[in-house]
Amino acid sequence: MPDAAPRREDAPAAPDVTDLGGGVRRIDARLGGRPEVVAVYLHALADGGVALIETASGATVPTVRAALDALGIGPRDVRAIVVTHVHLDHAAGAGTLAAWSGAPVVVHPAGARHLADPTRLWRSAARLYGDAMDPLFGPMEPVPADALRAVEPGPLALGGSRFEVVHAPGHANHHLALLSDAGDAYVGDAAGILLPGVPRIRPALPPPETDLAAAADTCARLAAHRPRRLHLTHYATVDGDDAVQAHLADVPRRNAAWADVVRASLRAGEDAPATVRRLEALEDAELAAVGADPDRWADDKRSSDAAMTAAGLRRALRTHEGLGGPDADAGGAGAPGTA
Ligand SMILES: [Zn+2]
Repeated sequence: MPDAAPRREDAPAAPDVTDLGGGVRRIDARLGGRPEVVAVYLHALADGGVALIETASGATVPTVRAALDALGIGPRDVRAIVVTHVHLDHAAGAGTLAAWSGAPVVVHPAGARHLADPTRLWRSAARLYGDAMDPLFGPMEPVPADALRAVEPGPLALGGSRFEVVHAPGHANHHLALLSDAGDAYVGDAAGILLPGVPRIRPALPPPETDLAAAADTCARLAAHRPRRLHLTHYATVDGDDAVQAHLADVPRRNAAWADVVRASLRAGEDAPATVRRLEALEDAELAAVGADPDRWADDKRSSDAAMTAAGLRRALRTHEGLGGPDADAGGAGAPGTA
């Protein structure tokens, strides 16, 4: 979101909480002051507490706290915090919320060290976001090592409720999804972006770990679990068996369509700005074709924007298909990115 005009959430707006039924509620974190872009989910647990799935950023913690207060949820009610991956819009608030609640933080084993010491992650993101870092994402407090709970795929018990952890690479290698017994699947960015008012899936393919084959495999494995609902962090809930299966089948097709554009750009020997222009033209055409709410265009484009997507796909196609020359426009190498 480099061109956003973010502001720190010193005075959070009235808490915006949506009850999705089945013990699931969505808090609108209002990242950068924008509504319905980044969700924090609350999942009611068998022991009467809640799990928080995603934390949004450090800057949005006051908004999330205000929503929890309004719901009468105190620190001791939070039994666990789960982050699908450590990108800053999902996990930068984890340290602050862990300190407040004393809850363990569930994370992919490859993401845990970045929560224990966010320095490298923060520095890597700062190259992309510059001065917007602090107002959007800061502060990112470390999670104490003894609060981290790195989880492998398989069953996971939280507050007396049973879940299944699925490792979900494609958007990031250290991405996981959390599936409840009742069929709620918290999929982070593994199933793309779907904002209210924008009725089409936007690929979520940032550098440096975008992997199209892994993303397709993740969607197939998630589909095999036959979830009843998909809760996307950006931002919609896909509800119903058929809608869920259709969505998970559509994500790899959407990724492939965008990759085709970047592949053509690389084959034509174009530089990164030219690839960005191709993706922006594609996105404009898509948004117009689906009749997207004009007020939501900017939010859609900022959700892992064209420059980030171009960088992610150029890098992926170089790495996995040997397309293009040396990776001069990589950016973010060595740390797991930001979007
Ligand atoms: Zn994200």
